[in-house]
Amino acid sequence: MENKKEFRSWLDAHKLEHPIVIAGPCSAETEEQVLKIAHQLKDTDVTYLRAGIWKPRTRPGNFEGVGAIGLKWLQKAKAETGLLTATEVANRAHVELALEHDIDLLWIGARSTVSPFIVQEIADALEGTDKVVLVKNPVNPDLALWIGAVERFHTANIKNLGVIHRGFSTYDKSKYRNNPEWQIAVDFQTRYPDIPLICDPSHITGKRDMILEVSQTALDLNFDGLMIETHYDPDNAWSDAAQQVTPDSLIQIFKDLRIRKEQDDEVGYQSKLGVLRAQIDIIDNSIIETLGKRMKTADAIGELKKERNVAVLQSKRWNEILGKMILAGEEQGLSEEFILRVFKAVHQESIVHQEKVINN
Ligand code: PEP
Ligand code: MN
Repeated sequence: MENKKEFRSWLDAHKLEHPIVIAGPCSAETEEQVLKIAHQLKDTDVTYLRAGIWKPRTRPGNFEGVGAIGLKWLQKAKAETGLLTATEVANRAHVELALEHDIDLLWIGARSTVSPFIVQEIADALEGTDKVVLVKNPVNPDLALWIGAVERFHTANIKNLGVIHRGFSTYDKSKYRNNPEWQIAVDFQTRYPDIPLICDPSHITGKRDMILEVSQTALDLNFDGLMIETHYDPDNAWSDAAQQVTPDSLIQIFKDLRIRKEQDDEVGYQSKLGVLRAQIDIIDNSIIETLGKRMKTADAIGELKKERNVAVLQSKRWNEILGKMILAGEEQGLSEEFILRVFKAVHQESIVHQEKVINN
């Protein structure tokens, strides 16, 4: 995937607004429901109307989607509102039906991305398409698996590719339905800066009242868009009821979001930014120098302890240091959690240094 530039095409070439917004129900339920939501989203920031037609459910017996008939409802919604359409495809038959019904954007679900067999089947079925194809991250936090799926679509000559970050499942309970693990999305973005990256705060949070906060984080991290599940009666939705928002709430979310530009070429801004970045570089270098000095001092302490045959780890002294540093950090506006993380790392490195001295 050398020529990354070509991937911007579906956002920039189609002159789509940043951030791009994909919204609509988790599942298409009835024709009336799809049309009603489409009309409510018509004159908003939304570009793509989403609706799941085939639903991958964790356990059997839950609502598994209306099937191909829902594609007709999406087509009708597009004809009536002008919204582009989006749905999930999970095998060759889904792809063929979605293409027949001229769906504009197809996404690959998190449960599909984990399987190279199914990804390859979908990629083969989509070969050469100019539809937008968005690859959700796999359910497990595995960057290579996500990249591997994107590579399969790229190899199948799909130009309008993008990815969706929808969080990662964990066995431990957390405040999220799927942990965001932002670092994985940021690592993806660093490797492929020109592949559009969309955030799905609905599946990350699982709760509608956390959607604004997670969307803001995504925009602050330069994501290119958001996919937000939207339903006029979320509590009675046939799937994912707790995380869907009403069209009115969606409009409010977009009023509340601080939407920042990725870049600004204005000269004054650029020169001020340059000065501040130069200062940061100087400070970072001095942090490294100071840490180096601290480790040399730790080596000297190691020598002393070696002479007197004293153990490396002195927990009492360590607790005293931590207590003092937390207080000093507070005065500088640094959180206790940050100080603990930094000083634990510093302490560990000191121990490694002293061990080396003592065992030499
Ligand atoms: C969905 O978007 O409705 C969906 C099933 O998402 P995911 O694949 O992220 O679970
Ligand atoms: Mn859903």
